[in-house]
Amino acid sequence: MDSQEFREAAKAAIDEITDYYDTVGSQRVVSEVKPGYLRPLLPASAPLDPEPWSAIHADVQSKILPGITHWASPRFMAFFPCSGSYPAALAEMYSNAFNGAHFNWICSPAVTELETVVMDWLAQALALPECYLSGGSTHGGGVIHGSASEAILTVMCAARDKYLAAVTAHLADDDGDDGEKEDELWRRRSKLVALGSAGSHSSTKKAAQILGVRFVAIPVSEDAGFALTGPAVARAVADLRARGLEPFYLTATLGSTDVCAVDDFAGIAEALVPSAGTPQDIWVHVDAAYAGSALLLEENQALAVPFAHFHSFNFNPHKWMLTTFDCSAVWVRRRAWLIEALSIKPPYLRNQFSDNELVTDYRDWQIPLGRRFRSLKLWFVLRSYGVRGLQAHIRRGVALGESLEAKLASRPDLFSVFTAARFGLVTLRVTGADEDEINARTERVYEGINASGEFYLTSTIVNGKFAIRVCTGVERVAEEHIQRLFDVLVERANTEVGKKQ
Ligand code: PLP
Repeated sequence: MDSQEFREAAKAAIDEITDYYDTVGSQRVVSEVKPGYLRPLLPASAPLDPEPWSAIHADVQSKILPGITHWASPRFMAFFPCSGSYPAALAEMYSNAFNGAHFNWICSPAVTELETVVMDWLAQALALPECYLSGGSTHGGGVIHGSASEAILTVMCAARDKYLAAVTAHLADDDGDDGEKEDELWRRRSKLVALGSAGSHSSTKKAAQILGVRFVAIPVSEDAGFALTGPAVARAVADLRARGLEPFYLTATLGSTDVCAVDDFAGIAEALVPSAGTPQDIWVHVDAAYAGSALLLEENQALAVPFAHFHSFNFNPHKWMLTTFDCSAVWVRRRAWLIEALSIKPPYLRNQFSDNELVTDYRDWQIPLGRRFRSLKLWFVLRSYGVRGLQAHIRRGVALGESLEAKLASRPDLFSVFTAARFGLVTLRVTGADEDEINARTERVYEGINASGEFYLTSTIVNGKFAIRVCTGVERVAEEHIQRLFDVLVERANTEVGKKQ
């Protein structure tokens, strides 16, 4: 493809993509293809000779689009959203054009410097405590990763090394071959425990698995709104220490995946204040992958005050903040914790700017070496919408969740609201005589709705209770879609409960 062919194909692609967005609401939301649909449609091996763009383009329409589930559809209310926007799409085009691995400042100074600026803007917009700003009192700062799972693995690694450094600080560095400190480090490693709650996303358990440390999930109760509480954390820590184990890390959650529960941050901060009996800090990471965007709203910002006692925080602007996948924003209260755990200095990466410590090298704040120019899309989104425009988008999602909750509450004969609308997520169950009947009816209503293809919902099982999750965070969702979903729910629940409408 030469530059003229690229110019024509790219312009046509923009028209087609814009049409896609304009009509996405009229498509069946979930792809109907069967597993393995694609292989028979494609040749068994890559073409030996070049193919014309027209042939490749035709296959996008005929072979790829049928296998696409439409996350931008206003009837996509499953999982948490994966939101995009035109400004973010434009940024991705420029980012592709400036294609590079960007691991050091000198690889493209703008890539590093824009990230630092934009992460400070975003930290301020979310009202994170000043310790998370790059110029803050504790030398913190933000970095963009690809996913919340990557963020959690990265901070857990930093937490492990910080903890081990503290508990072995009294031992002299091994200079001979007695290896006393090394032996002690490995002995302590086998005792380490990463904590989460029963509501933590599975990425915390996975991070522990990758790092080779134990994982313990602290139970949460329906009475406490499925939130992790300070006393529960204190009990778990005391029990583990009594067994000779060493809890070093905790994921607290703002907006759990099941039900959007919010952990008791102030209580957890209080429970983990280091004292004479518990001298070592337990690293607390706040995972706000989806609901972190709601901190843009003043009414939620008090939630962030206790984060000043914690160590790190992440949320995914690609979930609810209109910043096309992938974009996970992570902050730490002290950037040295990341750098001490992750810095590598092979001779081939050396350069005068890094050697003189004049610049930030984000390769030392993450697992991979190379990195995408993701800050560009955050910059375009923040400028195109403004904080007020983003607030309006988030408020709309919140209000639509509340609207659905009010409708469900108006039909107590058919539904119970399992967890109230919070940050645009409502969970519900169909009524029944006992738990088994409620579970079975709710599951049948859920399966029926998804099979019809008009809406895409997801479900969860919490403490043995099956519930339908409805997330109203997709930008195109409007009141008419909420009303239609409610009508469909009523129709199917009526059949289950054996009533006529
Ligand atoms: N944390 C929470 C609370 C989530 O809801 C999710 C995914 O939905 C994740 C972490 C994992 O996100 P990612 O796909 O960015 O790793």
